[in-house]
Amino acid sequence: MSEATVAPDWTEAGRKLFAGSCEFIFAAARSDGLPPVGPPEIAFAGRSNVGKSSLVNALTGRNSLARTSRTPGRTQELIFFDLNGRARLVDMPGYGYAAVAKSKSESWGELARDYLRGRPSLLRVFVLVDGRHGLKENDHETMRTLDAAAVSYAVVLTKGDEVKAADQSARIASTLEGLRKHVAAYPEVILTSARTGDGVAELRAHVARLLAERGGSRTAIAG
Ligand code: GDP
Repeated sequence: MSEATVAPDWTEAGRKLFAGSCEFIFAAARSDGLPPVGPPEIAFAGRSNVGKSSLVNALTGRNSLARTSRTPGRTQELIFFDLNGRARLVDMPGYGYAAVAKSKSESWGELARDYLRGRPSLLRVFVLVDGRHGLKENDHETMRTLDAAAVSYAVVLTKGDEVKAADQSARIASTLEGLRKHVAAYPEVILTSARTGDGVAELRAHVARLLAERGGSRTAIAG
């Protein structure tokens, strides 16, 4: 590729990336049943009901790719989608739903933790946090797991349409403040809404840029 003289248009790159095909490829309920390592993976984690399925659907422009409104906490699976052969999107099980029996939520945690610790193709995790409430203790717990596994992650606030415009920058600032004690957190927070589409182009751009800059190399993201 010739040397770029203008900054790449990541928004356009993101639009193109997500305009291509996106297909379900695999659901794994056990860590010894993961699909073989392939293209770089971008995973989505968050508390049950945070709006994860809705955001994955908004990102990919599909209404029903990821299952929305499923029983919170019920799906104990990692769901893999192929994004145009360039990357995989991984929908992780929701955490922190009180009605999930402790033993079941622990086995969920085991699957998620095994995946996070041992997946060389995992490029970034988006930790989704309900924009109406900000970071909760179990979000910090998830981020501590990610810190310990040296997995790079970024926090994405959801349901931004329910946060008053006047409160949005304060919510972003307090979330950024909460990230300071986490070593592997990307120091940027994107406020999104699956309902209005706010922040979705920004998130696509983030993924396109990540794939362009760091595609494939786990070691390159450790710092
Ligand atoms: P998941 O359990 O994290 O996959 O969450 P879902 O995507 O199924 O959404 C959980 C609930 O939040 C549903 O009632 C959605 O309609 C609602 N929801 C999801 N995204 C948004 C959003 O951007 N704005 C608002 N206001 N509600 C949302």
